[in-house]
Amino acid sequence: MAAQIHRGTLTNLRRLARVLRRGGLVAVPTETVYGLAANALDAQACRRIFRAKRRPANDPLIVHVADLRMLEQVAEPNDAVARLARAFWPGPLTLILARKAVVPAVVTAGLPSVAVRMPAHPLLRRLLRICGLPLAAPSANPFGYVSPTTAAHVQEGLGRTIAHILDGGPCRHGLESTIVDIRDPLRPVLLRPGVITAAQLGRVLGVPVRTVTKRHAARSAGQQSALAPGLLARHYSPRRPLITHRRITAAMVARTGTDEAWLCFRKPRWAGGAKNIFWLSAAGDLRQAGRRLFALVRRLDRGGWKRLHAELAPSAGPGTAINDRLRRAAAGRG
Ligand code: AMP
Ligand code: MG
Repeated sequence: MAAQIHRGTLTNLRRLARVLRRGGLVAVPTETVYGLAANALDAQACRRIFRAKRRPANDPLIVHVADLRMLEQVAEPNDAVARLARAFWPGPLTLILARKAVVPAVVTAGLPSVAVRMPAHPLLRRLLRICGLPLAAPSANPFGYVSPTTAAHVQEGLGRTIAHILDGGPCRHGLESTIVDIRDPLRPVLLRPGVITAAQLGRVLGVPVRTVTKRHAARSAGQQSALAPGLLARHYSPRRPLITHRRITAAMVARTGTDEAWLCFRKPRWAGGAKNIFWLSAAGDLRQAGRRLFALVRRLDRGGWKRLHAELAPSAGPGTAINDRLRRAAAGRG
C-alpha cells in the first residue's frame, strides 16, 4: 500500500500531530529536503526511523525544534546559540551542542552531543507547535540515496514503508542544512557545508569557522565510526555511475556515446538540441542550481543512461555545498 499524501490543512496537521504523539512516523517538508520525523524524546519511535530508512545506528539524527525553549529541552545552549539563532533561525542551519539526558541515545548514536535545528518551512513549524514535541528527522529517503525534495520523491523511496507524507511543495533550498559544531564557541567546526556558508557563520561568531579536515573525514568514512558521524565519503548516490568534472566541454561530450548524460552547471552555448545535455541553471544561478540538483540527479538516474557526468559548480556560496554533494554521489567510483 502506498503512503497517504496529506495537504497541510489544520485538520490534517492535527491528525499528523496525533500520529507523532503516539510514536508514529510522518514525512515532513522542510526548506532544505523532506525529513522523516518522529518524537525525538521517544526511543522506540526513533528506532522506527532507522528501520524505515535502513540507516546504520551510528549515524545520528537532527532534532527539529519550534523555538529556543524547545531547544533547551534537548541541548545545553551557550551564547553562540543566541547569536546564530538571531542571524539564521528559523533556517537551514544545524548546531551541534551538548545534549541533555532526556534525549534517547538512539537519536545521537550514543554521542554526548546533539544536533539541533529550527526549520523555516511554515507547515513544519505549525506541526511542531501543534504537537509540542521536538522532532528527530533525517532525510526521508532510503539510506545513502539522493535526498528527496518533493512529496513524490518521498513516495518513490519510502512509499511502501511509511504511512504518512505531509506535502509542502518543492523544497526552497533543496540541499541539506549546514552543520556547525559550536560546543566550543571559540573554535567552531563546520561538519557539513550548506546554503549558509562558513564565512557567513564566521562573521556572526567573530571567529573563523574551521572546516573538518579531509583526513579526519576519510578516517571516519573508513571506519564508519562515531568520530565524525555522517561524514561518509559515499552518500547521496544515484544507482548509475556518476563522474564529476571541473568543466564539461563539447569535445568531451563528442568523445563519448549518446547513451551517457551530461549535467552542466549552466546551459552551454554548444548544447544545441542534444538530448543528453542537461543543466542545473540556465543562467548559472547558484541558488536555483542547489534547488534543482537532487531532482535532476534522480531524473537522470531513472533515464536509462549508461553513465552520468556532472560539472562542478563555481565554489562560492552554495556552490561549495553543491560540489560536496556531487563529490559524495560520485565517491567510490572510477
Ligand atoms: P540528515 O541525514 O541529513 O538528517 O543528517 C544527519 C547528519 O547530522 C548526520 O549524518 C551527521 O552528519 C549530523 N549529526 C547529527 N548529530 C550529530 C552529532 N551529535 N555530532 C555530529 N554530527 C551530527
Ligand atoms: Mg540523509
